[in-house]
Amino acid sequence: MGDTKGNPTLDPKDWDEFRKDAHALLEDCIDRMQNAGDHPWQPVPEDLQETYAIGQGGDVMARLRDEVMPYHSGGTHPRFWGWVQGSGLATDLTAGLVTAVMNSNAGGRNHGSNYMERAVLDWTRQQMGMPESASGVLVTGTSQATVVCFAAARVRALGAASRTAGQGDAQLICYAGQGVHNATRKAVELLGIGSDNLRFVPLVDGKIDPQALTAMIAEDRAAGKQPFLIVGTAGSVDLGLFDDLNALADVAEAEGLWLHVDGAFGAWTRIADEPYRSLSDGIGRADSIALDYHKWMYVGYDCGVALVRNEGEHRAAFAARPAYLKGSTRGVASGDPWFCDYGVDLSRGNRALKVWMALESFGPEAFGEAITYNCTLAKVMADEVSRHNAMALSRDPVSNVCVFSANGSLPAEEQSALNTEIAITLQESGEAVFSTTMVDGVEVLRAAIVNHRSTEEDVRQAVQAVARLAAS
Ligand SMILES: *Cc1c(COP(=O)(O)O)cnc(C)c1O
Repeated sequence: MGDTKGNPTLDPKDWDEFRKDAHALLEDCIDRMQNAGDHPWQPVPEDLQETYAIGQGGDVMARLRDEVMPYHSGGTHPRFWGWVQGSGLATDLTAGLVTAVMNSNAGGRNHGSNYMERAVLDWTRQQMGMPESASGVLVTGTSQATVVCFAAARVRALGAASRTAGQGDAQLICYAGQGVHNATRKAVELLGIGSDNLRFVPLVDGKIDPQALTAMIAEDRAAGKQPFLIVGTAGSVDLGLFDDLNALADVAEAEGLWLHVDGAFGAWTRIADEPYRSLSDGIGRADSIALDYHKWMYVGYDCGVALVRNEGEHRAAFAARPAYLKGSTRGVASGDPWFCDYGVDLSRGNRALKVWMALESFGPEAFGEAITYNCTLAKVMADEVSRHNAMALSRDPVSNVCVFSANGSLPAEEQSALNTEIAITLQESGEAVFSTTMVDGVEVLRAAIVNHRSTEEDVRQAVQAVARLAAS
């Protein structure tokens, strides 16, 4: 490519042609979104890897349509409930266009996307019941948000000098419930705290036992260790369980520890109706919360957020501006705060725009309704399962997760094999996507419903398909 003077350029040679192609592609994209139910996950054909190799050129638009778009990860389909995967929104498409056109670096300085991120953070903070003094930063997801929050907790425990001197001999101890998401383990490992110093507190009725927690803290203190962090869970990945966050906040206050909540999806019960809303009562008392927009807020990947109750403590863990990043009172380098002072990244995309677009287009209430409805669907699924004599419901759904076995009367090993086979068969046929998990020694089918496209009919159809396969 080159312009008429022979200067190298990466702009299209022919804007009219680009315009025409882009319009056609937009039509294909909207068709795909509107008819998401016709496009389940499908395996990537073996020869496609070669096709993807760089240097093929050709009709790139046609390649996008025929060789790229069909091989998505599945979550956009109305009967996709595997793992915890968000379903995406039509507004992601329009927000994506504008995000690309603006190409803003949201690390700092003075431009629209930073104002937009502040608006999104402010709204989220209010929903979570955190004070106005709280700060936040949009990140890739809850995994990264967890690292950000734990880093702030560590600086509180060891003082700002630990940023330069390191952790020294301190043996920091962190407490989380059994079954806590792996993101917590990764974060303590990444921060050099070491996962041997992550204690798993036993659960009673699916919640961290506060008495056991207090006893473990005392024991570690007596051994000369330094407890610093309690991790509560709002929406456990396996079963959708919630810790009693008020009880954990009481322990954290009494013991002078940092309370962090992993609320990846479950934090959003805050905007749902009862009985789901009260599952996350007390979340606003946390020192930090990690949560996602890309799961239960349905916004396209990737987008999560770290919220920290005390802005000063948040900044204390990250702010560091060398001379070339100096702010100013006017011009591009003005504007405050700079998000690079609150997290790992200096250069950052404008993740806020797609969240803002979603909230402004559909209204925040629509999200509360969709979340409540997803929980209703988990109950509908449980009812459907209970109506099939051979099937066995493994747990009553607490929120949006339903776990069951296709045949409860077989020995555990045979049930596990059957459930695993059914999950894969349904994935491959495109009928429905369940994942599996271990409950009471049996590998069971698991639906985590964070899908605004799912209906009661979808649920019935999927359970029917399980029954059909179990019988054959
Ligand atoms: C998904 C999940 C995480 C990790 O979040 P990512 O956005 O995938 O990084 C952490 N905790 C829970 C409970 C989750 O469901």
